[in-house]
Amino acid sequence: MLFDTHCHLYKEYFDDITEIISKAKDKGVEKYISDATNIETCYEMLDLAKMQPDVYITLGIHPECVDDFYGELETIVMNNLNNEKFVAIGEIGLDYHYEGYEREQQIKLFEKQLNLAEKINKPVVIHCRDAYEDMIEILKKHNNRGVIHCFDGTMEQYKEYEKLGYYIGVDGNVTFKNSTTRDVIKEVPLDRILLETDSPYLTPEPLRGQKNDPSNIYIIAEYIAKLKNVDTDEVKKCQKCVISKVFDF
Ligand SMILES: [Zn+2]
Repeated sequence: MLFDTHCHLYKEYFDDITEIISKAKDKGVEKYISDATNIETCYEMLDLAKMQPDVYITLGIHPECVDDFYGELETIVMNNLNNEKFVAIGEIGLDYHYEGYEREQQIKLFEKQLNLAEKINKPVVIHCRDAYEDMIEILKKHNNRGVIHCFDGTMEQYKEYEKLGYYIGVDGNVTFKNSTTRDVIKEVPLDRILLETDSPYLTPEPLRGQKNDPSNIYIIAEYIAKLKNVDTDEVKKCQKCVISKVFDF
């Protein structure tokens, strides 16, 4: 079984999501987690989950959408507590890459969402770009669990996350020539890794330059298998176990 644990199946990116899913199914992908990034995509993901039996979703506000109204997210989340397709609060976090997003405001929104996840006992899907120092300090103060999506840090950073119980997401960028995390991922135990495409972004080599979609998760699975010198089937088997630990499937 293959499972794309992080993608953005939005109408904005894909004209025909049913077709994208059937293409992925042909490659052996059986389930998907499609992550919301703002209020609008929260509603869109809820609709998508209703239409697509194999698509699970997260609800949350991404740091780049920091101006969205947190109160509305809380209402959406509380109204969906019994929705079995809603598996985590995400994609949430900190992104200091671009100027113009108030850091204080990002931290405030992030902490509100961490508290919400804790209150309803759901994992979190975390986005962290150029913000490790603040991220680790905040996570230490809270009692959450979940995944550091698209991990691109050092071994020391990985170990700090692991101490707090977090798993890490590995995406197509690990296949890029200039990847700095490949050597780290090589040393991270397979049972701490979740495979993600982050479609439509981060298309793995050799398809880099094209739009990414969940069918490409097999490329990442094969790449990780090679990197760790194990069989791809072992990677798949291990994924099943990690997914059930992180997302309570
Ligand atoms: Zn994402």
